[in-house]
Amino acid sequence: MTESFITCDKCPESTCCTKLNVNIGEPTNLDDWGEIRWMVAHKNVSVVEEQDGEWSVVFDTACDELLPNGDCGIYSIRPQICADYSMTECPKNGLGPLYVKEFKTLEQVDEFIREEVIPALEESAQNFQEQLDYQLSRVRSWPEKVS
Ligand code: SF4
Ligand code: SF4
Repeated sequence: MTESFITCDKCPESTCCTKLNVNIGEPTNLDDWGEIRWMVAHKNVSVVEEQDGEWSVVFDTACDELLPNGDCGIYSIRPQICADYSMTECPKNGLGPLYVKEFKTLEQVDEFIREEVIPALEESAQNFQEQLDYQLSRVRSWPEKVS
């Protein structure tokens, strides 16, 4: 918890009610990154990696039930996910930066693909090829008969 810890009654903007985060799996291949390119090409949509390693698509759109004074208009029947939300991990009170990675534009995604994703995939492919070559060399030098 940060020193500037505040309670919800002192947070009229209710930041937590102005975005919709939906978990997606961690991107592991170029197809996944292709989907992320498509997501962020939409207005008010970003993709983030959160502090706990979860990846989410974030829709920057306020809840219709959020009142102008920051209160919830349906507090007694608010969705369970709202009731379960941990105030100490919220955008106002969480530890450190909210996101480890944040992609808001197609250009940001493409730059990350060029500089991080492709080199990592090339390294994996090279490691795989070296393992394959090693296994093939063992197979080829295997004795024809074991006496
Ligand atoms: S949970 Fe955090 S962001 Fe949401 S209203 Fe309370 S203090 Fe504000
Ligand atoms: S239902 Fe209420 S608590 Fe939940 S996001 Fe909307 S305004 Fe916030």
